[in-house]
Amino acid sequence: MKVLVTGAAGFLGSNLCDLLIAEGHEVIGMDNFITGSADNLAHLSGKEKFSFIRHDVSNFIFVPGKIDAVMHFASPASPNPNSPYGYLNLPIQTLKAGALGTHNTLGVARAQKARFILASTSEIYGDPLEHPQTEAYWGHVDPIGPRSVYDEAKRFAEALTMAYHRFHGVDTRICRIFNTYGPRMHLDDGRVVPNFLQQALQNQPLTVYGDGSQTRSFCYVDDLIDGIYRLLLSDEHEPVNIGNPVETTILKFAETINTLTGNSAGIVYMEEARGSGDPQRRRPDISRAREILGWEPKISLDEGVKKTIPFFKKKMGLE
Ligand code: NAD
Ligand code: UDP
Repeated sequence: MKVLVTGAAGFLGSNLCDLLIAEGHEVIGMDNFITGSADNLAHLSGKEKFSFIRHDVSNFIFVPGKIDAVMHFASPASPNPNSPYGYLNLPIQTLKAGALGTHNTLGVARAQKARFILASTSEIYGDPLEHPQTEAYWGHVDPIGPRSVYDEAKRFAEALTMAYHRFHGVDTRICRIFNTYGPRMHLDDGRVVPNFLQQALQNQPLTVYGDGSQTRSFCYVDDLIDGIYRLLLSDEHEPVNIGNPVETTILKFAETINTLTGNSAGIVYMEEARGSGDPQRRRPDISRAREILGWEPKISLDEGVKKTIPFFKKKMGLE
């Protein structure tokens, strides 16, 4: 296939480009570098199967030649209010990437009769009242809260994707991605994995927000990309959760990171660092992914963190 990947210079997009090329496909990467980095694609430069277009997906997209698949991953993705990469500091761009960017990429898929996959998110469930989250859950989202710029953009993106499928017959898929970590994630986007790993590798205490009883379920990037690729090859049009169902409290996660890195500086608690919008529990129900895609994550949290540490050490100049 010839595949257009938007958000190709980002954490997930660049890992996706690698898998697609390894599987023998041709990739056109598209990105405007608003949160991504050319470094993530440097190793693909000059490869016959890879080309790149610098472009903002909120504007009309022109791609030369025939395209077989469109994978729409372009969007800021970090909820951290202090990060320049965070969607709270890029609110309009985030709404536009989810709304106009999804419209334009669906337009490409329709014109090209290409299959389409939307990178959606667990955030469409908001601060969930049902646990774990199945795809049938409609979510608990404040439409005007600070996080709404991301959550509602993705909810609109899902609605638009289903409308193009139902009304125009576009061959669409929706992947609801849960917290993912691994090489090429941003070091300074303020999410918990980069924060904790950097603090631990500098022998500093880990900053646990609140009392650390909130939970997340962390998926290693290779597992996630494998699930997304299976969804792309499938004929499933309804949303599918892709994530790791092993749930951990943030406090337990901090202790794990300290153990795996040999950090003896412990933990500091920071009250109210995220405010009331911080989801208290998050865990995917992946029954549909298991059933439809024959997929489940294979890499444990300990194993995934160990695979991620060398990337952080290199980026931090520690080796
Ligand atoms: P990222 O910030 O590393 O990558 C996003 C990429 O999109 C960046 O390279 C950025 O420059 C690009 N981009 C943003 N707006 C653009 C625009 N208007 N035009 C062109 N390019 C644009 O983030 P990520 O973690 O790789 O996330 C990728 C996708 O996966 C996003 O859609 C995100 O919502 C979704 N997602 C990620 C996670 C996660 O845990 N990482 C979880 C749920 C959903
Ligand atoms: N968190 C934390 N310390 C940090 C960064 C994050 O305790 O230094 C917590 C945060 O409050 C949230 C969880 O870790 O409950 C996951 O946050 P992240 O920013 O990774 O993404 P989210 O899952 O909220 O989208």
